Amino acid sequence: MTGRREELAERLAAVRARVESALAAAGREDPVTLVAVTKWFPASDVDLLADLGVTDVGENRDQEASAKLEEVADPGRLTVHFVGQVQTKKAGSVARYADVVHSLDRDRLAHALDRAAAREGRVLDVLLQVGLDTSGGRGGVEPAALPALAEEVAGLEHLRLRGLMAVAPREEPARPAFARLAALAADLRADHPDATWLSAGMSADLEDAVAEGATHLRVGSAILGSRESHR
Ligand SMILES: *Cc1c(COP(=O)(O)O)cnc(C)c1O
Repeated sequence: MTGRREELAERLAAVRARVESALAAAGREDPVTLVAVTKWFPASDVDLLADLGVTDVGENRDQEASAKLEEVADPGRLTVHFVGQVQTKKAGSVARYADVVHSLDRDRLAHALDRAAAREGRVLDVLLQVGLDTSGGRGGVEPAALPALAEEVAGLEHLRLRGLMAVAPREEPARPAFARLAALAADLRADHPDATWLSAGMSADLEDAVAEGATHLRVGSAILGSRESHR
């Protein structure tokens, strides 16, 4: 276990250094939230990361996330981000442990999450996931449908519209795609001034995301290693 702790500490320090230099290169002094995406990795890694100062963790599958968070030693010190696609029937489960849902992409899911959050007596922070690719392969609402979805979500009592999220498309470089996302985020803020969060950037493209104004980075393998290395 000592070995794993050191490995995580080293990788985390390297990622934090990447974030710092990306912020410096962009001339930014505002903070960025690093979300460690712990999918595929055990609760013991979540505990080690929390000991190393990680405050935000991300998961992308409900079944895995709900089981893992039961095992985490001190869940109270973590903000839990759900970053994967949410099946409508899983909204009730996700609303129990997630603090932030990054992947809201349809009216039906918004209403299901709102009802579930109401039952739990909570208010969930939500981001609207935008599809940046032309093929539609990586999920998210089409940019043209964004204003209507935002309006719908803003009207729900137990959801707090925080901003936008996207995954870089496979068929083009990340930077111009993130620039389009940043423009959409600015449009959204014009109508919803509190929607200031921008979730973009993963292990491979976090520098591009920081350059385009990301406030939340979702970093998995650069911190935890490859999926194959720890099963
Ligand atoms: C897995 C995942 C990440 C992290 O990806 P890495 O390339 O491992 O950093 C980020 N966002 C989402 C939606 C993911 O599913």
